Parts: sequence; C-alpha cells; structure tokens
Amino acid sequence: MPPLPLRSALLPLVAAALAACDGTAPAPDFQVRGLDVVVATDAPFARRPDLAARIESTVQASLDYWGGGWEQLAGATLTLSGADAVPCAGQSSLGCWDGDLRITTRDPGAGTFSCVEATVLVHEVAHAVIGDRYHTDPRWMQMEPVQAALSGRVGYGSAGEEPCVVVAGVWRHPAERLPAPQAGPVPVEPAGAGN
Ligand SMILES: [Zn+2]
Repeated sequence: MPPLPLRSALLPLVAAALAACDGTAPAPDFQVRGLDVVVATDAPFARRPDLAARIESTVQASLDYWGGGWEQLAGATLTLSGADAVPCAGQSSLGCWDGDLRITTRDPGAGTFSCVEATVLVHEVAHAVIGDRYHTDPRWMQMEPVQAALSGRVGYGSAGEEPCVVVAGVWRHPAERLPAPQAGPVPVEPAGAGN
C-alpha cells in the first residue's frame, strides 16, 4: 500500500484533539524501547523521520550518564508539547517527570527548539533515574560528557536545516523557579517527581 503522508501526519493531531475532549490520554504516536511517545507539537524536528531515533539516543545518553536503564521508563509516556510550558505538580515548567515525561518544544526566549537534544529531555530522564527534585547531586553540574555525546547533530527549523545547539549543565535548572520554602507550602507531588 502506498504511503499516505498527509493522512498519517494528521491522524495523531486528530486523535489528540479527540482525546482532549473526553479527558482520556491520547494514544501514543510510536514507542521507543517501551516508552510511549505522544507528539503534540508542530516543532519541525518533531515531524522528521529521525525523531524516534533521536529520542532513543538522547534518552540513552542521559541513562548512561546517570547510571539508569530503560526499565525505569517502561510504561511511561513521553509527551512533546508545543505549549510554552507543561503542567508539573501544580506548577508550570519546561519539563516534568512524575511517572510520565512531559517536555515543551519551545524555549521561552529563543522560540522553538531545533532538535529534541536541545530540550529538557535529558534533564527529566535524570529525575526518572535519581529523583533528586532539588538538584543537590553534584553531577548536575558536570554534564559535559552528555553534551559531547549529543553535539554536532543537525537541527530543523521552518526553513530547513539549522544548528542543533545542546547546552550542557543543568538545563535551565527549574528548581530556581520553585517557591522558596518560606514563601509558602511546597506543592505535594508523587515520590521521585521533579521538574
Ligand atoms: Zn530538574
């Protein structure tokens, strides 16, 4: 049967829209090593055929760095969101791990990321492996090997290929956005959750 690129590209969006109406989770668009992936963004990189392989190698780089394995993500869903932020423990964040992974494909300052490696995916996988919601582990500040592993790849913009810029370190340390302890109650979240 010949491919139907337009139809196959639209079906996930239709499915997501329908699911949003009845409150159920959208069906995954594909799976990577047991991790369900939902594509809910129009970011150009998310429409490229190399997306699944790029997600796999990006998650693998984080698992390797933090000493984790794919079994720690088994049954979880990774959602790529085109919104400015994703919900996480009652707050908004660029990414979240609460048993599922959610990441935005937009940088608040620079606009849409050109590649999945530039998102907070590596950061959120770290929370899946070690928890550490408040980023007290010194390894958060020593992530150059992850940058090296993921650098030099191609990114995609609306006009075609562009650089995929991976920034090592703590990937926009979202803990800085959390309320200070004296400012109010810290929201309750499932054990191991973090953003
Ligand atoms: Zn974090």
